[in-house]
Amino acid sequence: MGYIWATAQVGGDLWFPDQGGDTTNVIRAVNICNQCNHRLECAEWGIANERFGIWGGLTTVRREQIRRKRNIKLPRERSA
Ligand code: SF4
Repeated sequence: MGYIWATAQVGGDLWFPDQGGDTTNVIRAVNICNQCNHRLECAEWGIANERFGIWGGLTTVRREQIRRKRNIKLPRERSA
């Protein structure tokens, strides 16, 4: 499975849920990510580069926790 397969099946909006919206779609996206062959590299990309969305099964909140723990700044924050 991967992004193309998953988005073709359920639509890319699933990975960019509205803040404070229905958590059912978040759980659904995370479950799909957890079966994806690209999960690990996708998660690392998301941690290093993405503020929004679900990447490699990690939510925005979880990625922020990992960034803080690893002392990683997003690209836009690095130049500030
Ligand atoms: S791990 Fe990444 S590529 Fe795979 S389904 Fe999730 S968001 Fe898409």
